[in-house]
Amino acid sequence: MENSKKWQVVGQSRAVSFLQRSLERGALAHAHLFIGPPHVGKMTLAVNLAQALNCEAAEPPCGVCNSCQKIASANHADVQVMGLTSNGNSTEAKSRTEIGIDQIREMQHSSSLPPFEGKCKVFIIDGAELLSLEAANCLLKTLEEPVGRVIFILLTTNERLLPATVVSRCQRLELPPVAAGEIEAVLDSRWDTEPGRAKLLSRLCHGCPGWAISAALDDTLLQQHAERLNRLLDIIDADYEGRFTYAAELASQFSQSRRVVQEVLDLWLDWWRDLLLVKVGYSDAITNVDLLAKLNEMAEDYRLSQIKAVIDGIQSAGEQLKQNANPRLVLEVLMLNIPKRKESVRKNLTSPKYG
Ligand SMILES: [Zn+2]
Repeated sequence: MENSKKWQVVGQSRAVSFLQRSLERGALAHAHLFIGPPHVGKMTLAVNLAQALNCEAAEPPCGVCNSCQKIASANHADVQVMGLTSNGNSTEAKSRTEIGIDQIREMQHSSSLPPFEGKCKVFIIDGAELLSLEAANCLLKTLEEPVGRVIFILLTTNERLLPATVVSRCQRLELPPVAAGEIEAVLDSRWDTEPGRAKLLSRLCHGCPGWAISAALDDTLLQQHAERLNRLLDIIDADYEGRFTYAAELASQFSQSRRVVQEVLDLWLDWWRDLLLVKVGYSDAITNVDLLAKLNEMAEDYRLSQIKAVIDGIQSAGEQLKQNANPRLVLEVLMLNIPKRKESVRKNLTSPKYG
């Protein structure tokens, strides 16, 4: 695994050694499909591969030569990234919901010209599942007629949304979630993250180091996480009106961004899974490592069966939302079914002066 040290992607040793071997044998495919969840490292691996193909050092990718540095800072003329938010002015990009045929045509034209400053042209298509059908068919022609010194790398979170004809032309590489310990170590060694924070981020990111690294560099991500979690914890002690209000708020967010609501549900699921783990004595495996005391305290107030029922409820709410059920109804049912904490404990907390 010595070579993998020069590849910046965190984990993914299987994918890295496959690509490294293909490069060494001169057997690299001209079209690749990297599949994995958001922030798992697809773009980093693609950039690393582009570096390996254009590196000026004896053992590519070195990461330090002129070419490697230009690629890392997105300033290399022969390495292009396209997707919804790149290639075009920002107002146009905002209103777009798919990668259009115009972008693919432009890429085709560029790919027919020889490399400008490097050894190999690399086109990275981020969010390939967002290619319009027209664009995907147009791309297919390019993939079917490979030309020298051009590599295409498609990145996707869901290959089932891509035409099978496109997938079949590509070398598939799946990028699985990375172990928390590995992410924690990288946060420590490369980003100098404080140990407690590195441990928390490595667990909150669920195997996707990109999120953990962003959160290590930008406090607002962790703040946003804490705000969302506090809001959810407030719901436990809220009356029906408070719960209805929150459900309505989430439902209206859902119409603007499904992703945000799914993130809230995921966060909620993490919390109740943690409660379950604490309840059965596996505190080492929890996600919210910074809130162990609160988890311990709350676990006292619930029976195991109640915790399991909430976990089932969150999962089924997520499924129903995916199947286009009425979001307000789904979220109301979810919020109303969250059990209150044990009465005796609540009394002690809320009315000590009468005791
Ligand atoms: Zn280099």
